[in-house]
Amino acid sequence: MSPPRDTIYALSSGRPPAAIAVVRLSGPRAGAALEILTGRLPAPRMATLAKITGRGGVTIDYALALWFPSPNSETGEDVAELQVHGGRAVIEAVFAALSVIEGLRPAEPGEFTRRAFENGKLDLTAVEGLADLVMAETEAQRRQSFTHMTGALARHAETWRQRLIDALALIEARIDFSDEADVPEDLVTPAIVVVRALENEIGAVLADNRRGERLREGLVVAIAGPPNAGKSTLLNRIARREAAIVSPYAGTTRDVIETHLDLDGWPVTLLDTAGIRDSQDPVEIEGVRRARERAAAADLVLWVIDASRPLNAQLPPQAGERIWLVQNKIDLVPEQVRERNEAECQIHNTKAPGVNVNPELASEVNKELITSNEFPLTKCEYHFTVSAVEGSGIARLIGQLASFAKDSMGGAEASLVTRERHRRALEETRAALNRALKPEMRGDEDLLAEELRIASRSLGRLTGRIDVEDVLDRIFRDFCVGK
Ligand code: GDP
Repeated sequence: MSPPRDTIYALSSGRPPAAIAVVRLSGPRAGAALEILTGRLPAPRMATLAKITGRGGVTIDYALALWFPSPNSETGEDVAELQVHGGRAVIEAVFAALSVIEGLRPAEPGEFTRRAFENGKLDLTAVEGLADLVMAETEAQRRQSFTHMTGALARHAETWRQRLIDALALIEARIDFSDEADVPEDLVTPAIVVVRALENEIGAVLADNRRGERLREGLVVAIAGPPNAGKSTLLNRIARREAAIVSPYAGTTRDVIETHLDLDGWPVTLLDTAGIRDSQDPVEIEGVRRARERAAAADLVLWVIDASRPLNAQLPPQAGERIWLVQNKIDLVPEQVRERNEAECQIHNTKAPGVNVNPELASEVNKELITSNEFPLTKCEYHFTVSAVEGSGIARLIGQLASFAKDSMGGAEASLVTRERHRRALEETRAALNRALKPEMRGDEDLLAEELRIASRSLGRLTGRIDVEDVLDRIFRDFCVGK
């Protein structure tokens, strides 16, 4: 028997002031506290109007009171909920009244969910899905986290574990009864068939290009390029809000600024990196170092250059599929050149990489670019001409970004792996299965059984059946108070 637990309480709704505030209590004294505050315990699971009385018999507010006796509650404990008017002073008064009741204390972040996990209401993958659902910013993220919260990964892990245990039972039978005549000689072969199938299935789940993780974290797109090319202006234009400082002086965007975008439901984080250039200023050197680091880790780099300036000094350090070239300030380029530039740009973008653009159509600006030995344009996946100030070309750039996001994350809702923790557990499982499948294992059933036990333990860790203490604190730390 575990010792009697504290009864915890917290504000479970958002930051006040708000129309309604939800105060939740969980633990053995939740019912008593509700009685003290409202004078009686409402019928279970029935929303009931109640008068909340505080210290000295003062009426605090009228509230909707809910009572969920154990075990049919979210945490599995007795749970009470009060929906009061969401003013700061109302909440303060309710908290003051709760704080003097014996056995009650404010909840830690994630403590309600932790109790639900400990009481077997949720497995660990569902807890993670719940955390992600609360944090989901886009529709695709919501769908993915909802799938996890409702047990998609846990169901697979549990089925795999069950099949593994069946295979293990066959091998153990072979070990235990190897001397007895009436045990079928070959119990190992059917076990190996199961192990091979599991290895294949888990391998297929792992071969998902990390789509699930990407969707959970959001695709990272770095805006980089020489100072004053208009990176901050472009970011503001894309994000339609003032996120970065726009200044006519070079080198003012010293830090990395993040903007979260929702492109057709796909999460994309834009990074405005400091103007990448060599500098003597220590603060700027640090900004440049961070910019390079973030840009290097990004899923895509938009390399922004000033179309009105010579190209040679503005080219990216290297070409590649992950770099899109954005010629900004096209409004400063004469109209005639601009039109040809755009036409050519479209031709270029519809051509397969490696196909040369017709030089007849090439504008002066692009001719220089195309013929530049330093930077073969054909190695750049896409090339855009835009004006961050006037807005031309921006819609096409955003459209292309949305397609890129969809290509990188599409189908990720079905992906079972959304965290490094899942990947590691499944990789460990698969490694053990692979070892078990080695031909030399066929003669050594003890070793074979041990590998299957290792595989089964890795799967158990995934859902939190075993060995979870080390990950629990990390997982619950990311929760907000009241969840
Ligand atoms: P960053 O250093 O690359 O972030 O450049 P900023 O966004 O701070 O822009 C530098 C200067 O270029 C500012 O004066 C902007 O107003 C100007 N600028 C940015 N984009 C454009 C554009 O498309 N057309 C014109 N004419 N000016 C621009």
